[in-house]
Amino acid sequence: MREVFNRLSVAESTIRRENLFMAIVICPNCGAKNRVDDSRAASQKAICGKCKRELPSSSAGSTPIVVTDVSFASTLAAAGDRPLLIDCWAPWCGPCRMLTPIVEELAAESAGRYVVAKLNTDENPRTAGQFNISAIPTMLIFKNGQLVDRLVGLQSKVNIVQRLASFM
Ligand SMILES: [Zn+2]
Repeated sequence: MREVFNRLSVAESTIRRENLFMAIVICPNCGAKNRVDDSRAASQKAICGKCKRELPSSSAGSTPIVVTDVSFASTLAAAGDRPLLIDCWAPWCGPCRMLTPIVEELAAESAGRYVVAKLNTDENPRTAGQFNISAIPTMLIFKNGQLVDRLVGLQSKVNIVQRLASFM
């Protein structure tokens, strides 16, 4: 475990710098890519250039990205070679609620090394069906546009970090 964390902190400084130039927010409504100035986004709400809806506040991964059937493909593309973790959940699911703070912590600590997203399976049946989500919570891990791992059921944070780290 110590080895994993050491490796993560080495990668962190490089990617933090990269992030300054890559503040791209995918609109969950229409899927358009929006370039957002981080300092401006902190003081005022960013608006999608295409559909004019409000964009999610964070571009640097401090909160999980909300993925929908509409935005799934562009979120996957934007993650590139960074591992993308998608927490598939539903509001009525108790274990999903227990997982929520862990997923939020992972997003807050990501620093651009990986991308954390959430998919409401009730509202987005197309994507949930595409990846055969039959039990929730299920976490899907993608890399370079491909599904590379799947964690079914409530998981410890350490376990999720280890699985993510194996794709970095
Ligand atoms: Zn939009």
